[in-house]
Order: sequence, then C-alpha cells, then structure tokens
Amino acid sequence: MSMRPEDILALTPSGICCKPGAFHIDPTRPVERALITHAHSDHARAGHGAVLATQETLDLMRLRYGDGFAGTTQAIRYGESVKLGGAEVTFHPAGHVLGSAQIAVAANGLRVVASGDYKNVADPTCAPFELVRCDVFITEATFALPVFRHGDADEQIAKLLHSVALFPERAHLVGAYSLGKAQRLIALLRKAGYEAPVYLHGAMEKITSYYASRGIALGELRAVRGAGKADLAGAIAICPPSALSDVWTRRFPEPVAAFASGWMRVRARARQHGVELPLVISDHADWDGLIATIAATGAGEIWVTHGQEDALVHWCVTRGLKARPLDIVGYGDEDDGDGEES
Ligand SMILES: [Zn+2]
Ligand SMILES: [Zn+2]
Repeated sequence: MSMRPEDILALTPSGICCKPGAFHIDPTRPVERALITHAHSDHARAGHGAVLATQETLDLMRLRYGDGFAGTTQAIRYGESVKLGGAEVTFHPAGHVLGSAQIAVAANGLRVVASGDYKNVADPTCAPFELVRCDVFITEATFALPVFRHGDADEQIAKLLHSVALFPERAHLVGAYSLGKAQRLIALLRKAGYEAPVYLHGAMEKITSYYASRGIALGELRAVRGAGKADLAGAIAICPPSALSDVWTRRFPEPVAAFASGWMRVRARARQHGVELPLVISDHADWDGLIATIAATGAGEIWVTHGQEDALVHWCVTRGLKARPLDIVGYGDEDDGDGEES
C-alpha cells in the first residue's frame, strides 16, 4: 500500500499533524499530543496534553512556563526512535539552540523530516546539525534570500572586542534573543579569549544559568541589577533587543548599542533599532546553508515554512524538486523571526 507524504504529515489549523501517529509537531494551538522541535515560543507553547521532546527542550519549557506547562512529558534522546501509532519518530540535532531537534517521521517506507529551525554551522552551545536523508524535507526559510549570507560569527565577535578595546570607558550593550543567541554570544566571547565578567539583563539570567548547568562554559556572569556605573565602564552586557531602547540603558556609561542577529545584514534594520554596532550572528541557516542542506537531504519534495517561502520554493522548482509553502500562522515570533520576544 503506497502512502503519499500528505498521508503522513498534513497541515491543520493547529499546525503540522501526523494522522497515523496521532500527534502534532510544534502545534500553534493546544493539542492532545505534541512533539516539540525546540523551546522558542513560536514552536513550544504551553497547554498540550502530552509533550515529547528532548530533555533540554522540556527543561527550558518548564523554566519559561512553569511546572504545569503540559499534562505529561516524555524525554527523548538524539538518535532514539519511538513508535507512535502507525509512525516511527526519531529526533536528530538541528544545531539551532540547546536541545533543538529535527523530527523524522517514518511510515510505510516513507520518511518526512520536520527540521524546525536549524543552522548548519558550528555553535559551542549545542549539538551540531545532523543531516538526515529523507523523501520530504520541511525547511524553515527565515533567511531564504541570496542577500543573506551570515559569514563567520568569530569575525563579528572580533569586531565587538575591537570596539571594546577602542572605547574602554564605555559599556557595550549587546541585544540578543534570550534563548540561544545570548548564550552563544557569551560562549563565542570566551572562545575568543575574553575573560572579563559578562553582565546579564534580568530577563536572561534563568536561561543562561540553565545553559551553564548543562556544562556549557560561559565563564563569570554577573547581573546588571546591582552593578554600579563604574563597574559597567568597559564591560559587555547582554540584554533582550527591546531593552536597547529602554530607560534601562541609562545606568550604563555612554553605552554602545550592538545587536546580534542575522537581520543586521540589512542596514535599515540596524538603524531602526538605533544600533551602532550591528553584529551579523544568526542561529538560522543562511541562503547558502538552506540550499546546501536541502540538496544534501536527497529529498525530492520540499515544504517551506516561516519566512521568505517564495524565493526558496522557486529555487527548488528550478532544481526539479517538488516544493510548496506551508503557511503556518504564528511561526517566526521569536529569535530571528521578525517579532520581538522577551
Ligand atoms: Zn527557533
Ligand atoms: Zn522558528
């Protein structure tokens, strides 16, 4: 009996649904059984009956939503497979943030991979992206335009450290999304040999100490709360992007506003945020990363979610791949998505 991919995963008003397995992946409304790729708020919502995810994703959801965030939870390791009804699901690293996973769903000899958000470059704070061969690949498209080439994150860190050396009396305030980007930024600073304490906005403290508790080397961290202006001269502080234009910044001596995001490739975006020092650092694959990954999966059919769907669908079609956008309302609200969380 042959199955079509749509018989395995189909789009419903709550998001991607697997009928034979009776579950949803990253549902946007409360459902009975949810499989969650990662803990960003557009993918991981509270209120599901049962949640299957990596331990880190479950822990991060608990940190954000509290103990009652789901009826029941089950942790799954990378590479582990679970049978759910007529489908077998396996979680693989997505390289996006701590605990992030691609979810492979196999049924009747057909494999569909829902990759969630992903990047195919090194990140000291999470397991590297693993390529999974499949028949259908569901990809994000946050930065799916050829103009988006993120380049080397270490060069952006060098740019930040150069500015810190140049202005030792000023504080450097770096806007970064509170789950993933903030911790990656700190880990990259440490990798570059920066040993001074890094100051944290209150909104990042819980998640950052969770990362540290999972063995990610972040060095000495201090709360901005309680620090004097003199302590903050020459220091680097990490805050949610929204705090960059807040009265909160007044406690810093002549702050240099920086922002770490893939969007910083676009000058108008930097200006719009009042950013002096744009840092192009993203936790999403850039254009080259997306098309290289799509090609390498061997998938003959590509479904495209949140972002610049049209350009990527067009690229796939010119390559002889079947492709279509999945218009899921509510994705892209956190991290490098257009909206501002935190
Ligand atoms: Zn994400
Ligand atoms: Zn997303």
